[in-house]
Amino acid sequence: MNVASKFGPAFTLESADATNLDQLRHQAEGCTRCELYKNATQLVFGEGSQKAEIMLVGEQPGDKEDIAGRPFVGPAGRLLDLCLEEAGLDRSRCYVTNAVKHFKFEPRGKRRLHSKPNAGEIQRCSWWLGAEIEIVQPKLVIALGATALYSLLGAKVKLTPERGHILTPANHPPVLVTIHPSFLLRIRESDDADRQRAIFVEDLHKAAQYQGN
Ligand code: SF4
Repeated sequence: MNVASKFGPAFTLESADATNLDQLRHQAEGCTRCELYKNATQLVFGEGSQKAEIMLVGEQPGDKEDIAGRPFVGPAGRLLDLCLEEAGLDRSRCYVTNAVKHFKFEPRGKRRLHSKPNAGEIQRCSWWLGAEIEIVQPKLVIALGATALYSLLGAKVKLTPERGHILTPANHPPVLVTIHPSFLLRIRESDDADRQRAIFVEDLHKAAQYQGN
């Protein structure tokens, strides 16, 4: 399905100008494009090979990622690793990042509760995501959840109707649409959790053809 033909011109990512990921990360460490840098511990930039065939894009770093300074190292990241393996994908050969690079949260006593980034924060941070895509030039981008999808393709492309599809927007690598693994962690009923996890693995499996041997 071609996003441009169905929805009009795809969302165009503005992007920073850098020739490699180290340079880009260095630039992002001084970012003040939105307010989120003020309360987070540190920038959580993407990680992985500059030659990765597949780029995974999540929402934003969580509590554990904010402390570690690395993406997808908390419970959702561990679940993602298991599901990638079941789907036949090698995470060490993927580039993993988030739509928003600083942790947004609300303090509750000693805890910090995840708070969803707003449209302005996502748009401002797409400056970095667009440059990551430009530098890595993946064969496929996997949008993990609605925030990643919004950052990549704009507001007109919705997760539920496009779930499991590989969209082919103009001037953009193909985008596989699926959920964020944290969705699976919030399901209380175990049969439903198992069923949803199997669908997620099925979605990820569609990416295997983009990771050569
Ligand atoms: S969240 Fe993104 S845009 Fe906002 S300050 Fe951090 S790096 Fe910059």
